[in-house]
Amino acid sequence: MTTALLDALRSAVGPAHVLTNGDLTAYERDWRGRMQGKALAVVRPASTREVAAVVKACAAAGAAIIPQGGNTGLSVGSTPDASGTQVVVSLTRMQAIRAVDADNLTITVEAGCILQNLQQAAQQAGFLFPLSLAAEGSCTIGGNLGANAGGTQVVRYGNTRELCLGLEVVTPQGDIWDGLTGLRKDNTGYDLRNLFIGSEGTLGIITAATMKLFPQPVARLTAFAAVPSMEAAVRLLGLAHRHLSAGLTGFEVMGQFALSLVVKHMPQLRVPFAGMDGAPYCVLLENSDSESEEHARQRFESLLELAFEDSCVLDAVVAENLTQAHDLWHVRESIPLAQAQEGLNIKHDISLPTSRIPAFVEHTDALLQREIAGVRLVNFGHLGDGNLHYNVQAPADADGKAFLREQEPRVNALVYEAVAQFGGSFSAEHGVGQLKTAQLERYESPVALTMMRAIKQALDPQNLMNPGCVLATN
Ligand code: FAD
Repeated sequence: MTTALLDALRSAVGPAHVLTNGDLTAYERDWRGRMQGKALAVVRPASTREVAAVVKACAAAGAAIIPQGGNTGLSVGSTPDASGTQVVVSLTRMQAIRAVDADNLTITVEAGCILQNLQQAAQQAGFLFPLSLAAEGSCTIGGNLGANAGGTQVVRYGNTRELCLGLEVVTPQGDIWDGLTGLRKDNTGYDLRNLFIGSEGTLGIITAATMKLFPQPVARLTAFAAVPSMEAAVRLLGLAHRHLSAGLTGFEVMGQFALSLVVKHMPQLRVPFAGMDGAPYCVLLENSDSESEEHARQRFESLLELAFEDSCVLDAVVAENLTQAHDLWHVRESIPLAQAQEGLNIKHDISLPTSRIPAFVEHTDALLQREIAGVRLVNFGHLGDGNLHYNVQAPADADGKAFLREQEPRVNALVYEAVAQFGGSFSAEHGVGQLKTAQLERYESPVALTMMRAIKQALDPQNLMNPGCVLATN
């Protein structure tokens, strides 16, 4: 059976694109190195028809399929298990920009298109494609859709879901669904597009997508502010919404310990207000303006005046030019790397109603510090979307591996119970993957789980698409 399947895969995509030997670590291990699997083969189709032929061959053989883009996901959703029987379908050869429709403000691209290339294609056509995240040089639009990625511009433009108008999908039976419409209104039956978005490759393989384009802002300004508390940061967010309205495109928060790791591990970066007394958090704000740089600056400065009057800001710097703005964003985007250099840590990607974040943080910081001696909290994230990366670093003198082995289940239980208590979600933007299936069982309602299983069973009765991801069992 295995030989027949490999032969069918070779005839579907050509022998050079069925990888079975050599170093396949890039496809078999997740980005954070949490799990190392073993694939039967890594298959690299170059067209939608080839994807359909691959899926048909796998379905005939009963072989599980793991759809994969850039493999930058953070919940172990795009790598195979250790059985050596699963087929990784990598979309990375399908990179074409199929069409730009300037009047419809849309771009149609293949799933393996790297996010940065999509942004550049939009820019060359005179538009903005606003999805932006630190992995944009290697993640793909198919993976962004599979995970419903968020990133740094959600406060203005929404998650990947809000940016997508149409999809082309290969079903678990190997049929091709052409749903590549660029329609902004289309109430014809169930919303299949939104079913596939965020389904983490468990319902089908996205092969192409029609995405929204936006006018390029005339000016973009970035500010970095020191704030006296998380409660003040939330107050500043409210002021920024009211004062900048749709101009507010980014609102990130960074705890002082997170910033201290950037200072320690990236000494070449200038980190404003690092270690400032009385400022446990800093905030990064971005304002986009469709009129002029002068207009943007006036609005930003009057916002900061209001914020100083309100005492929700202690001090602030506004970038003078794009290089300075880039440097400020670089500080924020360097936190995950600085944290990795500090050692192993337990990551949480949570969301809460923004209004409840100060109370959640106060409660959970105190709880963890009481329960786990010496624990260090790395708290940062997309506060504008109510999304925190509330991470837990081992005590300074601890062995990171032993800390994870001994404490991870307990830390997760403490954090996720608090998240549930404050009305939040245990997975804001990284998805469930293989890593958080137990949390889905624990925190999702039985009614919702029953509907999810029914959808999976209806679309993929053989359970071939990414089994063990999202739903641990059918
Ligand atoms: P993969 O990791 O390959 O796959 C992700 C999921 O989608 C898997 O379940 C996979 O099976 C499925 N999938 C992949 N391709 C397809 C397809 N064609 N059809 C159907 N399913 C598919 N995420 C955020 O949301 N916001 C952030 O700010 C953010 N920042 C990050 C920063 C760094 C440094 C890193 C490493 C990751 C970050 N991520 C972030 C997570 C990750 O980059 C995103 O989830 C990204 O969208 C994944 O894209 P990918 O192409 O790498 O997908």
